Amino acid sequence: MATPAPRVSFVSLGCPKALVDSERIITRLRAEGYEIARKHDGADLVVVNTCGFLDSARDESLQAIGAAMSENGKVIVTGCLGAEPEAIREKHPGVLAITGPQAYESVMAAVHEAAPPAHDPFIDLLPPQGIKLTPRHYAYLKISEGCNHRCTFCIIPALRGDLVSRPAADVLREAERLAKAGVKELLVVSQDTSAYGVDIRYEASKWQDREVRAKFYDLTRELGDLGIWVRLHYVYPYPHVDEVIPLMAEGKVLPYLDIPFQHASPTVLRNMRRPAHGDKTLDRIRRWREICPDLAIRSTFIVGFPGETDEDFEMLLDWIEEAKIDRAGCFKFEPVRGAQANDLGLPPVPAEVMESRWHRFMAKQQKVSAAIQKKKVGKRLQVIIDEANGLHGKGRTKYDAPEIDGSVHLQSRRPLRVGDIVTAKVDSSDAYDLYATVV
Ligand code: SF4
Repeated sequence: MATPAPRVSFVSLGCPKALVDSERIITRLRAEGYEIARKHDGADLVVVNTCGFLDSARDESLQAIGAAMSENGKVIVTGCLGAEPEAIREKHPGVLAITGPQAYESVMAAVHEAAPPAHDPFIDLLPPQGIKLTPRHYAYLKISEGCNHRCTFCIIPALRGDLVSRPAADVLREAERLAKAGVKELLVVSQDTSAYGVDIRYEASKWQDREVRAKFYDLTRELGDLGIWVRLHYVYPYPHVDEVIPLMAEGKVLPYLDIPFQHASPTVLRNMRRPAHGDKTLDRIRRWREICPDLAIRSTFIVGFPGETDEDFEMLLDWIEEAKIDRAGCFKFEPVRGAQANDLGLPPVPAEVMESRWHRFMAKQQKVSAAIQKKKVGKRLQVIIDEANGLHGKGRTKYDAPEIDGSVHLQSRRPLRVGDIVTAKVDSSDAYDLYATVV
């Protein structure tokens, strides 16, 4: 008789890159015959994939470990916070094992020790594309790990190390498997997507009948040939980003760029150790839109970075209006432990000033975004359906990524199906969302 399969409860915290790590670990667990439990209570052990980027994320991770300890007691910790084992052991000395990010082998070794795999692993139950934590119609595709930059507010390079790119053929094989499994939209992620391949000197690898270089443009072009939606995230504004804009204009990849600009003031950018002068970037955005007029730009910004003056902040407000940034997230600066920004000797921005700047930023961005949304009223746009409930549903246009951007609220005469791409006429808009009828 086969031994009952051990049950693992899994907690996945953090960014899409951490989600990809979780998917890989869960895929391995399922491949070896483990079952994934819905609750900690009654599972054989718990794996917590943590995030350690901001202090708030560290707190959330430590709380999740605490909950797993009290509800189960057998806990393995992995992910970004795993790079700081002392911080975890100090609060939760009883955890079984701690591993850092992408340490799949060590996580599996710890799982084997705590709950050895069942005798009869049901490998055949594993779908070839692995187990996805995202809905079936979209998937994150991680092309590299780590980052060669040293932005002063960020500790990711300390946690995840320097850039390590996957060979192009490896990425393309995964992308093709996902497309064959029914995925309609690929979200390309990494810490620095446009730096792809720098570490392996753009080495070519064999894909189908040809050699494909591990280069941002080459990979994007090949992904564009899969015939599904391809969306580029975390693109650092290097000059060679210009090369992919024609691929967007041709409809090969989505006209969407997620570029974390972080600020517009040259002084703040310099203190952040970020490249790009605000004015030059504006010129580039103009050129991009000449080539691809419907290009949507999503970005993130930080307000209240040490030394940010009223003038710096006003410059940022003017810039987002001028650049017509479609979607923007705004963070209040957090002095993350270990970040160089804390040692620059710059005066901190008082909390109330930071708060008021954040509100002013959000109000301005809402106005910019609402004006862009309004221009879509009356147009027919393609919409991928994320949620369906009979004749009603919720989806996204090419200009919106899941989780972070806006939605299209749909009504239809025919029942809607999740994952379908339909054409809808936009009836009205608000600051973030569209309301449309399927045609
Ligand atoms: S580019 Fe900067 S912010 Fe992004 S991961 Fe690298 S160091 Fe951090």
